[in-house]
Amino acid sequence: MEKITLILKEIKQETEDVKTLVFVLENNKKLDFKAGQYLNLFFSNDKDGHGKPYTISSAPCDDIHITVKNMGSFSGKLHKMKLGEKIEAVGPLGFMILSEMEDLDGDIVFIAGGIGVTPFYSMIKDIFQNGKKNNISFFYANQKKESIIFYDELEKINKENNNFNFYHFLSRDKKFKAQNVKNRRLEMEDLMDTLGDVKSKIFFICGSIKFVNDFWKDLKENGAKEDNIFTEAFFVG
Ligand SMILES: Cc1cc2nc3c(=O)[nH]c(=O)nc-3n(C[C@H](O)[C@H](O)[C@H](O)COP(=O)(O)OP(=O)(O)OC[C@H]3O[C@@H](n4cnc5c(N)ncnc54)[C@H](O)[C@@H]3O)c2cc1C
Repeated sequence: MEKITLILKEIKQETEDVKTLVFVLENNKKLDFKAGQYLNLFFSNDKDGHGKPYTISSAPCDDIHITVKNMGSFSGKLHKMKLGEKIEAVGPLGFMILSEMEDLDGDIVFIAGGIGVTPFYSMIKDIFQNGKKNNISFFYANQKKESIIFYDELEKINKENNNFNFYHFLSRDKKFKAQNVKNRRLEMEDLMDTLGDVKSKIFFICGSIKFVNDFWKDLKENGAKEDNIFTEAFFVG
């Protein structure tokens, strides 16, 4: 696959350690991608030439948004990028996309930990922009209210759409109270209690390797069909 060049057009501070970088393609071309896909990013001045994968957090009709948590060397460099700077990319890549689902009208359940929200934000925007009628439940695990990425945008979608149900789990925040907030870790029992039957539903899980593995195993043990569980693990944790 050929490398493409992206130009940084806008920077949004989402939370204390998360930024969204809004890129456009050189020559103002349009990137053809599906909600949930990612790009491998490369700094052209990087001597060892290693790239890292980052999900496109915007919907396919929008510019290319990359939402990055500052947690190490590569993400730190992305956080330091200045407007007008260029970066190289390979992609779009990845198969955690809605069209892989067997039942395209089925009930969808998103389960994300922290920065694992990025593919689901793209998918949720895509679903509602295209007027799809799937019932969607989103279980989002974070440490505290301030670390919830896209809180305002997702709560707005939640208020405006009866087919979207949004549940927050805050493991280190005892203060923030709301009707859809639990001040503790997300557990498998929460999925079972809220969803009832998991057999007929389609699951997407994204977060750290441990988060993804634990929920994948629990869902299977509780009767979810393996073909209906789609996952992406971002990093060890
Ligand atoms: C398909 C895919 C999509 C992704 N999408 C996104 C996205 O949308 N947004 C996003 O922010 N990230 C995303 N990631 C993760 C991203 O690719 C990087 O892995 C992430 O940014 C960390 O890279 P880094 O170089 O900044 O950190 P690293 O230097 O790799 O460090 C990561 C963590 O590991 C710890 N660490 C590093 N080295 C060691 C060591 N030797 N021993 C123990 N601990 C160590 C660091 O302290 C840090 O906490 C995605 C990953 C995949 C696979």
